[in-house]
Amino acid sequence: MQVREPLSSYHALSGRALASRAVELLASVGISSPAARLRAFPHQLSGGMRQRVVGAMAIAAPPRLLIADEPTTSLDLTIQAQYLRLLTDLQERHRLAMIFVTHNLGIVAKMCDRVAVMYAGRVVEAGPVGTIFGAPRHPYTRALLESVPRLGARAEWLTAIEGQPPDLAALPRGCAFAPRCAHAMERCRAEEPPEFALGAGHASRCWLDAPA
Ligand code: SF4
Repeated sequence: MQVREPLSSYHALSGRALASRAVELLASVGISSPAARLRAFPHQLSGGMRQRVVGAMAIAAPPRLLIADEPTTSLDLTIQAQYLRLLTDLQERHRLAMIFVTHNLGIVAKMCDRVAVMYAGRVVEAGPVGTIFGAPRHPYTRALLESVPRLGARAEWLTAIEGQPPDLAALPRGCAFAPRCAHAMERCRAEEPPEFALGAGHASRCWLDAPA
């Protein structure tokens, strides 16, 4: 199983020592009957178990930074919650820094201290989670948050961001969000906005935030 590979290449383990450490790792991420699973192929495991095995592989080396790229995609909500708890647990036990790459704003709110919002391959706004959710500044961040359906809200239509993301191989001049932005000005289409510091670790790349 792939969980053995980092153990042999990083820790130079082999034989029984390798197998025993692999079993320990599988047990530590909540895989039941870990010794029996050691020889299992991915198709013999459920989606939730496969994600747990990925967690075991990730901590085998052991890392100081864990990058979780869409870690809960394709998991149902119950398994998703269990997996997020496991990642939090791994983070605390191994004192890891963690970067989440996700489209799920609920996960960001639950798991993260800081958030960087990206559009067309660039960070357009970054700051503490409470600030970004409570007082977003960039029009794209605001539009993203407005498009999240709210429980109990009576709306006939979901709010969407008009237009399409740009072609990354042919980005427009100036601000890449300008063709979709209700606040776009002439300057936005001519010059790409630099990063403007807004205080307390909060920054945005929008001409609306340029100092007067
Ligand atoms: S720089 Fe201009 S186009 Fe870009 S997000 Fe700000 S206001 Fe909109």
